[in-house]
Amino acid sequence: MKIYNTMTKGKEEFIPVNPGEVRMYVCGPTVYNFIHIGNARPMIVFDTVRRYFEYKGYKVNFVSNFTDVDDKIIKKAIEEGTDADTVSKRYIAECKKDMEGMNIKPATKNPLATEEINGMLEMIRTLIEKGYAYVAKDGTVYFRVRNFKDYGKLSHKNLDDLQSGFREIKVRGEEDKEDANDFVLWKPKKEGEPYWESPWCNGRPGWHIECSVMAKRYLGEEIDIHAGGEDLVFPHHENEIAQSEAANGKKFARYWMHNAFLNVDTNGRSQKMSKSLGNFFTVREISERYDLQVLRFFMLSAHYRSPLTFSAELMEASKNGLDRILTAMERLKEAKGRAPEGRMSGAEEENAKKAEALTVKFESAMEDDFNTADAIAAVFELVKLSNSTINADSSQSYLSFMEARIRTLCDVMGILTERKEELLDSEIEDMIAARQAARKAKDFAKADQIRNELLERGIILEDTREGVKWKRA
Ligand code: AMP
Ligand code: ZN
Repeated sequence: MKIYNTMTKGKEEFIPVNPGEVRMYVCGPTVYNFIHIGNARPMIVFDTVRRYFEYKGYKVNFVSNFTDVDDKIIKKAIEEGTDADTVSKRYIAECKKDMEGMNIKPATKNPLATEEINGMLEMIRTLIEKGYAYVAKDGTVYFRVRNFKDYGKLSHKNLDDLQSGFREIKVRGEEDKEDANDFVLWKPKKEGEPYWESPWCNGRPGWHIECSVMAKRYLGEEIDIHAGGEDLVFPHHENEIAQSEAANGKKFARYWMHNAFLNVDTNGRSQKMSKSLGNFFTVREISERYDLQVLRFFMLSAHYRSPLTFSAELMEASKNGLDRILTAMERLKEAKGRAPEGRMSGAEEENAKKAEALTVKFESAMEDDFNTADAIAAVFELVKLSNSTINADSSQSYLSFMEARIRTLCDVMGILTERKEELLDSEIEDMIAARQAARKAKDFAKADQIRNELLERGIILEDTREGVKWKRA
């Protein structure tokens, strides 16, 4: 299996630290809002990578964090007159709901920054002892980039070039930095902010240290794959490498994988979807218009290292593509209900061989740095083969074989092959009545649950003055 490694800028054969095991860490979101579909790209891509490893028989330990202490979370809490913990807990729960909708497997572990402070204090202490970090007058602890000779090896940046760019820039409050490239490991609290005690000052960790510590605690000092969006290469991942390798004295990760951006067209220009540009759609918004399976299919229709531009046309094409697969599966099921028991005919055996060859084609695409675009093309060929070869005389064995083949490959992609059953109007009305009763009884949790269940099945509720209205997505 070949993986493109950002570190070496080339495709390399995958050799795990422990045979048969994959230890992977994916940087997760900062939780202060609903996630947008740009954030969903790494989630879908690396969940698919995980699924492929599992399909090949690897045991995968998949760790992905939630950054639950950060300036943006604190700002949001102040705006809402609440605390950071309330904000982050709410959006972690919402994010998990979205992930479930996108059929993303739960991680082996989702560590939270606020629950890993002790590990961070310990690593910072080690870095100070080894001369890789220093404490400024105000209690801020900085990483001493100059002492880590490999700094820049992931992003292929040269420290001297970085330096000249930075020479004149010393951010206010950071005058004590020895070098403009030094970065924060621990910083003093500001009034009203959450904080923890430390030997240096009451404060909170910098962003980068959390991932180094969580990866070490849940996966070990040397991991197989570290992944995230390409905006994380510098400085986040470069800094993680500096911290981990300086503290542990070992190579941090064998393979560095980065997905390209999900873009949107604004006034004819393709731009990265981001919260700060305001050009985003949340996963929740998309779920009101499409089954999130369509979003997943759309994301996998491109190779993960190619930029992908979101558009209604491409979503429609994904919807149609997905529909073709689901229809083929329905046909197989129907035919199975009528087919006589029995072995494959000679012609069916020949077609089964063709299906095996398409499975090999699918695998070869995935083994080539997870080329999901080509893998999906192989699934479509399989669907076409199925559609064109089944008829009233097909044997049970052949139909079951084709059904299992399509299902297995879709499962690697995280694509469900059962069409969600449509609710009847009367069932919808009944559920709305039950929701109204729950609201009357002030059981808002139940009312919300009913609303969400309806939403998951494609029914959108609208509370109006004339009562509850509903429509199909
Ligand atoms: P953030 O919450 O901004 O730290 O982002 C969480 C993850 O989403 C990181 O891996 C980012 O690289 C990734 N990400 C954010 N925006 C995009 C985008 N437009 N396209 C692809 N990945 C993105
Ligand atoms: Zn990280």
